[in-house]
Amino acid sequence: MEDTNNKPVNATLKTNDSKPTDKRHRCQWCNALFPESELHLEADLGFLCDHCIMALRSRGENLIPMN
Ligand SMILES: [Zn+2]
Repeated sequence: MEDTNNKPVNATLKTNDSKPTDKRHRCQWCNALFPESELHLEADLGFLCDHCIMALRSRGENLIPMN
């Protein structure tokens, strides 16, 4: 395994008001907030959570994931 983690230790002490990893979006279907990493971006529908993705698939919707 490659170790690329050679940042200075105090790099984490910077202001953390807008961490890019902490982005949240609403699921377009159930309107709940989720971290971006838990959502799926669909070409036509926007952000959807796992639960809604499964519901849409079971209805036979044609989902077009963008990520
Ligand atoms: Zn949802």
